[in-house]
Amino acid sequence: MRDQPSILHDNNVSPRHAPQARATLVQVRSSAAVVPGWIKRGAGYSSLALLAVLCWAALRQDLPVEELPPAPPPAAPVEIAAAPPPPAVPPASSPLLAPDTAGMPDPADIALPPIVVATAPAEGLPLDSYEMTVRLEKGDTLASILRDQDIPPDEVARVIAALKPHLNLTRLQVDQDIHLEMRTLGQGDATPVLQALAIRPEARKEITLERDEDGSFSVHKKIFEVVAKLVRATGKVDGSLIGSLDAAGVPHSARAEVVRAFSWDVSFQHDMKIGDRFDVLVEQSWTSDGRLVDSGRVLWAEITTGGGRKELSVYRFKPQNGAEFFWYGDGQSVVKALLRTPLNLSRVSSRFGMRRHPVLGFTRMHSGIDFAAPSGTPVLAAGAGKVVQAGRRGGYGNWVKILHAKGLATGYAHLRRIARGIRPGARVRQGQVIGFVGSTGMSTGPHLHFELHRKGRPVNPLNVARTALRAKLAGKDLARFKAVMARINRQREEAPIIE
Ligand SMILES: [Zn+2]
Repeated sequence: MRDQPSILHDNNVSPRHAPQARATLVQVRSSAAVVPGWIKRGAGYSSLALLAVLCWAALRQDLPVEELPPAPPPAAPVEIAAAPPPPAVPPASSPLLAPDTAGMPDPADIALPPIVVATAPAEGLPLDSYEMTVRLEKGDTLASILRDQDIPPDEVARVIAALKPHLNLTRLQVDQDIHLEMRTLGQGDATPVLQALAIRPEARKEITLERDEDGSFSVHKKIFEVVAKLVRATGKVDGSLIGSLDAAGVPHSARAEVVRAFSWDVSFQHDMKIGDRFDVLVEQSWTSDGRLVDSGRVLWAEITTGGGRKELSVYRFKPQNGAEFFWYGDGQSVVKALLRTPLNLSRVSSRFGMRRHPVLGFTRMHSGIDFAAPSGTPVLAAGAGKVVQAGRRGGYGNWVKILHAKGLATGYAHLRRIARGIRPGARVRQGQVIGFVGSTGMSTGPHLHFELHRKGRPVNPLNVARTALRAKLAGKDLARFKAVMARINRQREEAPIIE
């Protein structure tokens, strides 16, 4: 059986990043707005019963008769009054209704809102209107949510038909809020009538459906303006860079960008030490009403390595005929022929790092470098090239070797599994996933054993990667880059720190 969707009343909705979000919700000409919550909750199904019970309670307390509205039509209330009171109504002994409790509201005040409402049926106006926000849960559809609110099936079908051209109803996200505005009609008919519906399938877009005078539905689309906001995060590297960025509130996609920007020059496990720091400037897009559109992109990032001995600072920039990526202040690209850390560390969510996983560096006996990483971490081709070996190789376990330009080759050992399509003769791009960290062959625990060969002989990957070729900005690109750098440096000083 499917769970009932959770129902949130409007005044409980407080999205974390949306201080003004309520302003965008459809305003209701709602009499329910002044009704206490406990009455409001029961209103959809039991307005008449509630009214009858309250009138009955009021009369029992000998209120002056002239304060009451004209008596409602006798048939319905008398019938319903005979039924047990709905659970939403507090018992008569409740302090809320006790007439002699000092400081408590007069019972007549409490009874007032429903009594005002009671004048409505005579004029043919809504008996009661109310709004609610329903959150879509796994297995829910918009139709099932409307049916759960007791909206008749033919009405549900009309609503769906009206929305269909404007909204992909099969693509609604779990946790999506649907705002409903309903009313019940008079004359003893408690069937809820949908007055309006609002749904925000993405932060920028709101679809509203409204019932017109003639009972038909009209649908409107609103696109919110998007503004960029800058935030800055700074802190000490504790355990792992990715974990420290996470702890400082840097959003996921930006964390991945920082790691990628430095991955050619920094081996996060070998080069980062206690006392190293990071500083990141992130640009995020927000709607004009305060909803986050994307989690942001890094404009500038700075880290230190070797316990603060070395500082690296990168800026986001797009050359005229190139891809947008990161560049050092002197106009050199961060991209080199070989990755220094051939692992997708942004996928590693646990806090592993240098202290808990001591790693072996390059020695002549060892002929490579080990990267400690959880089993299953994607292993990346350090550079573009051609696969020359892929399969079991003795103590190396599952092994991949790639031939690059300039007589360089890289090898990857102890893989749990070699990625699909990685076989001798296959071409790979730099950063392509070629396998996954494991502990096959002679290995004491999950890690990547990485080798670099030059002209057939193993060399220290950390040294060679440092001198590998990279692109450099020149001419007009360099002039534009200097201007972008100056702007980013100014913005950095003004950006608030992420809370
Ligand atoms: Zn090794």
